[in-house]
Amino acid sequence: MHDAKLPVVLVLAGHDPTGGAGLIADAEAITACGGWPVTIPTSLTVQSTQDVLRVMPCEAEDIRNMAWALLDEFDIAAIKVGLIANEAGLDAIEDVVRACPGIPLVVDPVLRAGGGANLSTTALIDDFRHRLLPLVDILTPNRHELARLAGNEASNDVERVVALLSLGCQAVLVTGTDDPPLEAPNDTVMHTLHTPETSRQWHWPRLPGQYHGSGCTLASALAARLAVGERLVTACEQAQQFTWESLRHGWQPGEGQALPRRW
Ligand code: PLP
Repeated sequence: MHDAKLPVVLVLAGHDPTGGAGLIADAEAITACGGWPVTIPTSLTVQSTQDVLRVMPCEAEDIRNMAWALLDEFDIAAIKVGLIANEAGLDAIEDVVRACPGIPLVVDPVLRAGGGANLSTTALIDDFRHRLLPLVDILTPNRHELARLAGNEASNDVERVVALLSLGCQAVLVTGTDDPPLEAPNDTVMHTLHTPETSRQWHWPRLPGQYHGSGCTLASALAARLAVGERLVTACEQAQQFTWESLRHGWQPGEGQALPRRW
C-alpha cells in the first residue's frame, strides 16, 4: 500500500451509459490526469451516441447524502460539476460547493447534447447564473453555451464573457469546437481563456468528425490538473492537449458521434 495522498476530484455530473460523456468520461479523464475521482450522479440518462432521449434527475437528498459521506472521509482538492438536471439538483450542488470553501470549482455548463437535445431550461439557467456562477473558479462553455448563459444583452463573445465575469465567475475558457468564430481558420479549433486580468488563445488542428464527450473530458482534465497544483493557464493548456489526444484516438461505435479514448 502507498502512503501518498492522491489529489481527489469530486465530480457531480450525469451518467451517460455510452461512456463517451458524463461520469465515465470524468472518471477516466481525472484518472489519466493524475487525480482520484469520487463521483456523484446528478442524473441518469437514456442515450446513444446519436442523441439524449431522456434525463432522469437523481433526488436532491441523495446527492447531498452521497456528498456528506465523501466529504467526511476524503480531502477534496478540486470539484467538477457537469449536467445539472433540475432546480432541486442545483440546490443540492450549491450546498455541496458551499461546504467546500476555497476548493477550485470547474463547471462545464451542459445545456445541449451534441445530438441536439436541449438539456436545460431558461429558469434553471437563470438560477444557475445567480447562485452557482458566483462560486465558479473556471467555467468551460462552448460558444453556444456562452451565448445562452450570457443572455441577449451581450452581442459578441467578449461582451458575453464580460457579463459572466461580472456575475462573479473567476475565469471562462470558451471552446470553439462545434461553432467556430469567424476569426478562426477553418482547419483549426480555437479555445480562449479569459480572466479579469488576462486572456489567452490556443489553436488546435481541427479533427474530422463529431465527438461526444469532449466538453466533459476537457473540464475534468482541467479539474485534475488544478487538483495536482498546476496553475490555471498551464492546467488549461494541459487539459486541452489531453482532450485533443483523446479525440484523435477516438472511435465510432455506430452511426452517431465518435467517442474519445482517454487511456
Ligand atoms: N453529461 C451528460 C450526462 C451528457 O449526456 C452529455 C451530452 O450528451 C454531456 C454531459 C455533454 O457532453 P459533451 O462533453 O459532448 O458536451
